[in-house]
Amino acid sequence: MDIRKFLKTARDKLFPQNITCDLCGAEIFDGGHFCGRCAPTVEFNDKTVCPVCGRRTARPEICTECKADAPKFKKAASALIYSDGGAKLVLKFKNGASYLKEYLGTLMAEKAKTLPACDCVTFVPITKKRRRERGYNQGELLAEVLGEKLGIPVVSPLEKKRETAEQKGLTKAERLQNLKACYKIRDKSCVKDKTVLLADDVLTTGATADEACRELTIAGAKAVYLVTAASVEYKQNGSKKHEDKK
Ligand SMILES: [Zn+2]
Ligand SMILES: [Zn+2]
Repeated sequence: MDIRKFLKTARDKLFPQNITCDLCGAEIFDGGHFCGRCAPTVEFNDKTVCPVCGRRTARPEICTECKADAPKFKKAASALIYSDGGAKLVLKFKNGASYLKEYLGTLMAEKAKTLPACDCVTFVPITKKRRRERGYNQGELLAEVLGEKLGIPVVSPLEKKRETAEQKGLTKAERLQNLKACYKIRDKSCVKDKTVLLADDVLTTGATADEACRELTIAGAKAVYLVTAASVEYKQNGSKKHEDKK
């Protein structure tokens, strides 16, 4: 048994799901996911959203970013707001707590049902090196849960060829430049003429999703819809603080 598996088993034994708070680890007794203190910090994206990118907006209309520069995906939906508890949860999921895929993936599957039905689900690839370091691709884990819940196959048409600098603090244009040509098509046949659901952990500026969508479209995908665990709230003047390292 390798060390990672050993640690995972040990952790699963120590912290079985739904007995401790998914955020702070405090004991809980109601079978929920969070303790009374953490629950109010996790905000669901269930108020008004931009009908294109699905980020929370003050009014239910297309946000100025989507108006100025339409995303390459047709439409997106996300389960949580990427701030406070929602952001902590996603970061925890990315940094070792892979078991959170069930909770996040289940929320995402419900959101995905608000999008048109898709033929298959895929994820944003990470480099082999990053995958080795982290032990998993968080997007792939989410795609697996989505595939299971929605009854569609998980496909892997793309790969990431090179490491890219951290996106934090960059504008969308800079992010697109940073990501330029980092994804490569490894298998066209699984997405050709298909409506594809792209699963990712977070939507901030949409640069990562756009770049992946561009490749999926080149590979022959008919349309791409995006579902993420969380998204930042859209604010008129800059909501681009946190994009994560892939
Ligand atoms: Zn808690
Ligand atoms: Zn929008």
